[in-house]
Amino acid sequence: MSVTDEARAVPSVPSPSPSSSFEALRRQDPQIADILFGESQRQATTLQLIAAENFTSPAVLAALGSPLANKYAEGYPGARHHGGCELVDAAERIAIERATALFGAEHANVQPHSGSSAVLAAYAALLRPGDTVLAMGLPYGGHLTHGSPANFSGRWFDFVAYGVDAETGLIDYDQVRHLARQHRPKAIVCGSISYPRHPDYEAFRDIADEVGAYLIADAAHPIGLVAGGAAPNPVPYADVVCATTHKVLRGPRGGMILCGSELAERIDRAVFPFTQGGAQMHTIAAKAVAFGEAATPAFTAYAHQVVANARELAGALAAEGLAVLTDGTDTHIVGADPAPLGIDGRVARGRLAAAGIVLDTCALPYGDGRGIRLGTAAVTTQGMGRREMDRIATLFTAALREQGEPHDIRGKVQGLVAGFPPFAG
Ligand SMILES: *Cc1c(COP(=O)(O)O)cnc(C)c1O
Repeated sequence: MSVTDEARAVPSVPSPSPSSSFEALRRQDPQIADILFGESQRQATTLQLIAAENFTSPAVLAALGSPLANKYAEGYPGARHHGGCELVDAAERIAIERATALFGAEHANVQPHSGSSAVLAAYAALLRPGDTVLAMGLPYGGHLTHGSPANFSGRWFDFVAYGVDAETGLIDYDQVRHLARQHRPKAIVCGSISYPRHPDYEAFRDIADEVGAYLIADAAHPIGLVAGGAAPNPVPYADVVCATTHKVLRGPRGGMILCGSELAERIDRAVFPFTQGGAQMHTIAAKAVAFGEAATPAFTAYAHQVVANARELAGALAAEGLAVLTDGTDTHIVGADPAPLGIDGRVARGRLAAAGIVLDTCALPYGDGRGIRLGTAAVTTQGMGRREMDRIATLFTAALREQGEPHDIRGKVQGLVAGFPPFAG
């Protein structure tokens, strides 16, 4: 058989199998292949406690690495600016149906490229430049899109910040109401990058109604817990819910917007053509896969285990002497101040990194110091439970207190994660 016959007999459709496509990459571009290999080794041999990270399933990765990546599809299913969209239309319709069913929403837009793009589109749909917006201040756990001067939000809108109580670390709803009455914002944003407790969506709705503001829930972090029934659903309360699909929800890197049917058209136009161009159809197919996974009893069990693990870890870290913010957690997020151990968050992050424990620093509700923020979404996907959380807390404090060589602690971390391979199955 000649080469051309062979090529005809075997259509050159990339295989969704990660191993064979990886071998093709290694042959063509060993430099990048080495980086991919090294990164998967890093993820598999150290502890991933970054609160925003998770491990997607092989099915999600297969959709991401599929030929849908080649397709241009500006517009929405049935109304595209390109030909050949029949199949990707079907993928997007399935993603939308699964998202609306999963979260009980009338409308879903699954095109935002990221959580930040979702928030940008929500503002574009509801606000005009110069409007006043009330959101959690960045020093308390607000996201960049909640009014940072370095971000479009702080540049184009007039943000007023609410905080958390310095003592309890909890949102002070009387302060939120007071600021809302004083500044009459056009929108109120609830949601945070580090708040470990459930927002009181009903209280936010009540305050928004009192001052005639839209309520935007930026549920980027907890939306996966919502899918698994382990956190309250903001959909019945907020006018618009923004989310990511890659945090606890365990899907591909991307964003999503949920809203009622009366805002559907405005939201859709705010995503495309106002703030984005062509949709990433491979990512949208991967979102559909993730929504399918999130609708299963196994995911419900996962979401509850994520919270149980975070509570166990928070308790164990408190027992080791760290000051746990808000005295615990309702979610996958644990915030802690390592000051009782004589170090700040930056030093803590460095010592933990040397021991193979990867996490972030975070703002503290008091003072200018930094704390540490960790999450249990990734380790729970790996199959770890409460026993492993206690083990993590022991290794954690050994690293922070510099009990023994970082190298030895790193070896123990590696021994622990070896029993829970993240890329199995
Ligand atoms: C993660 C996060 C975002 C942004 O998500 P990206 O995908 O990184 O753009 C927005 N808001 C909140 C509250 C977040 O936690």
